[in-house]
Amino acid sequence: LKFFYDPIESLHQLNQILQSGRAAGERVFDILDAEPEADTVGGREMAGIKGQVRYENVGFSYAGKTPTVHGVSLEALPGQTIALVGPTGAGKSTLINLLTRFYEYDEGMITIDGVPVHELNKAWLRRNIGYVTQESFLFNGTVRENLVIGRRDATDEQLWQALQSANADGFVKRLPDLLDTHVGERGVKLSVGEKQRISIARALLRNPPILLLDEATASVDTETERQIQEALEHLMANRTSFVIAHRLSTVRNADCIYVLEHGRIIEKGTHDELIAQDGMYAKLCRTSLIAAETAAEE
Ligand code: ADP
Repeated sequence: LKFFYDPIESLHQLNQILQSGRAAGERVFDILDAEPEADTVGGREMAGIKGQVRYENVGFSYAGKTPTVHGVSLEALPGQTIALVGPTGAGKSTLINLLTRFYEYDEGMITIDGVPVHELNKAWLRRNIGYVTQESFLFNGTVRENLVIGRRDATDEQLWQALQSANADGFVKRLPDLLDTHVGERGVKLSVGEKQRISIARALLRNPPILLLDEATASVDTETERQIQEALEHLMANRTSFVIAHRLSTVRNADCIYVLEHGRIIEKGTHDELIAQDGMYAKLCRTSLIAAETAAEE
């Protein structure tokens, strides 16, 4: 997490902060249920999303810079999990930000169920594409308020179901006012692992057909790590997911792993295929991926 924005008083402010964060090119940390004025106009909405995503020869440069993404082609079939791995600065975040149109690609095309994303309404796109990072933050308010950003009409039963899938029901049941417990600055302080699981519950409630997950590893104990991993598996199930993966367990389960370096895909395949190739992926596994896993278990 590069920046902490706290306290966050209201959704409106949250929204403004997320918007300005994007504009400044900083990473944004959580699902954005944005209602930005400029984004609600223009572009079409699809009746539903099956979740096939294709990048065809996609190229992109940040203004005035040398290209960050070159000739990237990849495909996710509905429900598949695609893992993106590669060294820091390889272009993984940029690549997923092109799908939500936080940046517009310069070359090639990205389609969802065959429809180019540049034809789609941005606010609609972002409602249908969940963006979750493990360093997700909660704003000051109750657990319930933090959850319903995902879905304002959710019943208590649905909130508890989501908390259960996210392995968060146990600790929420121990909070003094349950769902109505205030969390954050002026309330109960939650651990990093607890915050992560609440943000996963929020994403489950929102139930987006496409999920972008940035799996930054936080230092949590082994049991918390296991619970988060399980919650993430529930979240990724039955939806197309792109994961910037830092955990070996995630890449092992991915339908396809794409290895990026300097904005290009240099290897592609399953974990076993890529290990057999003994290239960059195998090297990353020996160093950073496994190192991250080991660090998380300490
Ligand atoms: P990764 O997610 O693999 O670490 P990024 O997509 O964050 O890589 O970054 C790819 C490259 O693009 C890096 O060289 C980074 O410095 C650059 N970059 C990222 N965001 C911006 C931005 N908003 N403006 C200019 N350059 C950027």
